[in-house]
Amino acid sequence: MSELRELYQSVIIDHNKSPRNRGEPEGANRRAEGHNPLCGDHVIVSARVSGDRIEAAGFDGRGCAISTASASLMTEAVRGRAQADVKQLFEDFHRLVTTGEARPDSELGKLEVFAGVHEFPLRVKCATLCWHALRAALEGGESVSTE
Ligand code: ZN
Repeated sequence: MSELRELYQSVIIDHNKSPRNRGEPEGANRRAEGHNPLCGDHVIVSARVSGDRIEAAGFDGRGCAISTASASLMTEAVRGRAQADVKQLFEDFHRLVTTGEARPDSELGKLEVFAGVHEFPLRVKCATLCWHALRAALEGGESVSTE
């Protein structure tokens, strides 16, 4: 196992063990649930949006290590960003987990720890579930399923 891969693994393990932004942020005004029947992941993503900006995001629910770590890292990554930037970030993240490669000028940052997911196609839905839920929440939806 390469050193980089070990680093990635340890970030995912850390965020699964100690998820950040558990629960709803204060004053949350967007919320949507996501289901991934294939793995049994269930995530509720909530956000406080002001104007075009996501001021805070949080999540709850139950899922595998990948889905939990992904939600934890996502809620950190989207805080303070404009909705259009978050849409772009989701596109970049989706490309990363399906191809293993990041767009050269993407702002994925820590989210690049999920590059290895592309080797496990069934896990792609685990990693992207929270993003689908966030997008649904921002678009005023209430729930989303990967199936
Ligand atoms: Zn899963």
